[in-house]
Amino acid sequence: MRISAMHGRGRPVFSFEFFPPRDDEGAAVLMESAADLREALHPDFISVTYGAGGANRDRTLELVSRLQGELQITTMAHMTCALATAEDIRENLDRLVQVGIENVLALRGDPPKGVERFEPTEGGFAHADELIAFLRDGFPEVDIGAACYPETHPESPGAEEDLAWTRAKQEAGAHFLITQLFFDTDTYFDFVRRARAAGITLPIVPGIMPITNVKQIERFTRMCGASLPAPLLERLQRHRGDPAKVMATGIEHAITQCRQLLALGAPGLHFYTLNKSHATRSVLAAVK
Ligand code: FAD
Repeated sequence: MRISAMHGRGRPVFSFEFFPPRDDEGAAVLMESAADLREALHPDFISVTYGAGGANRDRTLELVSRLQGELQITTMAHMTCALATAEDIRENLDRLVQVGIENVLALRGDPPKGVERFEPTEGGFAHADELIAFLRDGFPEVDIGAACYPETHPESPGAEEDLAWTRAKQEAGAHFLITQLFFDTDTYFDFVRRARAAGITLPIVPGIMPITNVKQIERFTRMCGASLPAPLLERLQRHRGDPAKVMATGIEHAITQCRQLLALGAPGLHFYTLNKSHATRSVLAAVK
């Protein structure tokens, strides 16, 4: 099913994001846990990330095909511009369309490991809006999602410019937006207000990452420019040496965040599961 049709049904759209495991054993575990999630929580769709480079890209395509084909869960493939020509991307999309994939998250991508700045590949694309236009023209049977940044993308000179480029994604043909992770509900609604004022009409789905590990979340927030509210950070640091308490704090915060988001009209929730579904399960079970 196309995700834009899900947004037309008048109820929140729930989704889980996974990354492709490194080996077949990991893939088998992931398939099992996705099947359990489907039974327990009935997500509307699952998405699979696309690596910054290298061999695990094929694993994305493989996993997407298996989730959709074997488990019959609507699955969205992430696709990036990194280290790929337009022709490479066309081949990937041909493969995905052949196995019935109808949804793609179109991204520029992060630079490969060890590389500081993103460099477009010759014959490829420099920014997500170019990839979106390419998909719109070449694959009209596919719905296109795109990323947006409530706290502004770290490379953007400012919030206004960032919003203008987000609007460019809408104009290029995106059907919905998913936000970078954030931990303060007001940050999301302030972004939505600014986006609407800038003419962005697409559904803006909040991206939620239940915190399960202090070191990891400090690293992620540093990398993606999201901020941790001071009271939450203080609580996490107090429990630093106690993984169970950190997990409980992260889950409690995410439940509060998700309840507020849905109560105030967010069109769904997209969970960054990091392939550890326990926390996401607890959160979604509490808010659904
Ligand atoms: P862009 O929209 O191209 O933006 C990159 C920067 O350039 C921004 O600063 C923007 O303001 C600016 N900009 C945008 N368009 C233009 C333009 N036309 N001209 C000049 N400047 C412009 N990364 C992965 O590698 N694999 C994944 O699977 C993945 N999944 C993600 C899922 C979600 C929901 C999100 C929010 C992010 C994901 N990312 C993933 C991370 C993403 O690739 C990075 O945030 C990346 O740095 C930017 O991607 P983008 O698509 O937003 O790029």
